[in-house]
Amino acid sequence: MSEHFDVVVVGGGPGGSTVAALVARAGHRVLLLDKESFPRYQIGESLLPATVHGICRLLGVERELAEAGFPVKHGATFRWGANPRPWSFSFAESPRLAGQPAHAYQVERLKFDQILLDNARRTGVEVREQHTVLGVLEDDERVTGVRFRTPDGTIAAVEATVVVDASGAGSRIARHVGPRTRSEFLRNLAVFGYFEGGRRLPGPDAGNILSAAFDNGWLWYIPLSDTLTSVGAVVRPHLAPLVQADPEQALYGLIEQCPLIEDNLADATRVTEGPYGQVRVRKDWSYGSTRFWRPGMVLIGDAACSVDPVFCSGVHLATYSGLLAARSVNSVLSGAVPEDLAFAEFEGRYRREHGVFYDFLLSFYTLNVSKRSYFWTAKKVTECADSEFQSFVNLVGGVSSGEPDLIGAATEARTPVRTDAGRGTGLGTSLLADVPPRAPVARTAVRAGGLVAAPDGLSWLPPDQP
Ligand SMILES: Cc1cc2nc3c(=O)[nH]c(=O)nc-3n(C[C@H](O)[C@H](O)[C@H](O)COP(=O)(O)OP(=O)(O)OC[C@H]3O[C@@H](n4cnc5c(N)ncnc54)[C@H](O)[C@@H]3O)c2cc1C
Repeated sequence: MSEHFDVVVVGGGPGGSTVAALVARAGHRVLLLDKESFPRYQIGESLLPATVHGICRLLGVERELAEAGFPVKHGATFRWGANPRPWSFSFAESPRLAGQPAHAYQVERLKFDQILLDNARRTGVEVREQHTVLGVLEDDERVTGVRFRTPDGTIAAVEATVVVDASGAGSRIARHVGPRTRSEFLRNLAVFGYFEGGRRLPGPDAGNILSAAFDNGWLWYIPLSDTLTSVGAVVRPHLAPLVQADPEQALYGLIEQCPLIEDNLADATRVTEGPYGQVRVRKDWSYGSTRFWRPGMVLIGDAACSVDPVFCSGVHLATYSGLLAARSVNSVLSGAVPEDLAFAEFEGRYRREHGVFYDFLLSFYTLNVSKRSYFWTAKKVTECADSEFQSFVNLVGGVSSGEPDLIGAATEARTPVRTDAGRGTGLGTSLLADVPPRAPVARTAVRAGGLVAAPDGLSWLPPDQP
């Protein structure tokens, strides 16, 4: 006989931990299965303010993040486009984030993902690590649970009213919802490693991600502590054979092609031991599932769709889709909203957010234009009333949707948070201060006839109570 839970979440990355905690908080029984033992390595280290001040505030871990010593990311610095000089922006320049802490963090995912998973556990989620999901249980149209392997090799099954697939890019069960289609235009690959002793940008930009374009692609340079730096090259597909033949030599060769990054690494040495000791290669990250849900099952985060990493949007998309899915699951389990309406709202909002990044990325890879041209495109794809530059900062801060829960303007519980920590004084200093709540922002439907979130942000209002 198999067990039964209200919800089974497959995968304990940022998406899975978010949806699991927000469904458990509504009083439902949630089981989360992950094949790994945490802490585990993952790429995706540069966060957006929407994750830190929106989702992490809603989850109740904003303070824990502030105290974890992660480098403070006030914005980003690009060597990109027709201008040969690097240019920077700060998230505080977004009118939606101004006047309050607007920073994000650069995080070691080993630590960040552990914080979110521990939070899910504290909220009441039953978390089982080293449990690999092998397939789904089906009953005609409906998914009714999953089959999994336990650490001792036993094959078992668990039934659930809803299965959430948050198992990332390598999901083995997402195909039970729909096939994936890959982007025709974005087929780049990445090769990346870690260095000790790299230089830092001056002053307030010290914690920024530095992204520098060169002839064969672009390089990221992410400060993960005062001394540790994540460095990766994203290159065009024709270089795949070279990169895959010898990733380490390929990484060194690509760094040499980009003097800005090479100079910053002049006194640095590559880490060769521990979780950061390997040079890794990743590819095939621009795709989307043709459907994001079917009766009894929903895909979130990378299991549903993903985009090129140039705007560091992956964790934002995973956690935001976790919030949207939690609202739908909670509404269905309470009987307030029919399943098709609830998950259509989830899918519409998640596709919109993914689509904004994807559409903007296509134009951002046109390198021979001025930065003003990028800002103009940001305004066009977000259909935002703010200026072109502000629309750009809204987009790359993850707040272009206007969702109150992404700017922390909808939650009442407040915790002290780091405000201007690290600005020009090193990267990881913790300075805590009580800050007033952001001015409330009205919750609205994002499309005609669409659903509106309930006041606590954890479910949708029934369609007849807009
Ligand atoms: C080169 C590169 C650079 C990137 N840089 C950034 C960045 O700077 N910022 C950013 O925000 N994003 C970045 N990303 C994207 C980011 O890595 C992902 O979008 C993010 O990790 C997705 O979160 P998730 O919760 O959907 O999945 P994941 O973080 O992938 O978590 C999935 C979890 O599911 C588990 N799992 C998998 N299969 C099973 C199974 N069968 N049974 C049980 N458990 C399973 C895994 O162990 C894992 O813990 C980058 C991606 C790439 C490829």
